[in-house]
Amino acid sequence: MLKITVLNAARVPHRAERTILVENNSNALDSRFMRAALDEAAAAAMRGEVPIGAVIVHADRIIARGYNLREENNDPTAHAEMIAIRAAAQQIGHWRLLDCTLYVTLEPCVMCMGAMILARIPRLVYACRDPKAGAAGSNYDFSQDERFNHRVAVTEGVLGDESSALLSGFFRRLREEKKAVRAARSSC
Ligand SMILES: [Zn+2]
Repeated sequence: MLKITVLNAARVPHRAERTILVENNSNALDSRFMRAALDEAAAAAMRGEVPIGAVIVHADRIIARGYNLREENNDPTAHAEMIAIRAAAQQIGHWRLLDCTLYVTLEPCVMCMGAMILARIPRLVYACRDPKAGAAGSNYDFSQDERFNHRVAVTEGVLGDESSALLSGFFRRLREEKKAVRAARSSC
C-alpha cells in the first residue's frame, strides 16, 4: 500500500513560536563566537570604520572572519558579513555554506541577508538590531520570506548590549572629533 506523507515545508513559524525556538538555540557557544565577532568589530573601529564584525562557524570552529571595510576599500559592499561569506566559501571550496552559522554584531542589511540566502547559510546569530536598515526582523525580515528558496533560523540579542555600546561609543567619538575640528576652524 502506498503511504503518502505530506510535509508542509513552506510553513513559516509565527513570531511567538520563533521566539521560543530562538531561546532554545541560544547557548554558551553563541556567546563565545559572538565575542570573536566583537573582536572583529573592535578591529574595524581601530581603522576608523564603523565597528561591525562577523565570524562564520562550521563544526564548532571559526572558519572565516570579517569586519567592515567600506571606507578603506571605497566599497559599498565591503560589509563584515560579505567579507566573511567570501572567505568561508574559499575555505570550504564551495559557494554553498551548508551547516554554517554566521555571527554578526549588528543585524544584517538587505544585501547581506541576500548573500546569506544565496550561500544557503542555515543559521544567523546577531547581537543588536538595526532599526534603520535591518533585514532580519526589524525593518524587513528576509529570514522567513516564502518568496525566497531558503529560510534562515535567527537568534538575536547575544551580547547585544556590548555591541550597541561599541557602536554608540564610536559615533559619539566621531561627533566629538567633528565638533573639535569645527571649533579649531572657527578660532582661526
Ligand atoms: Zn550588510
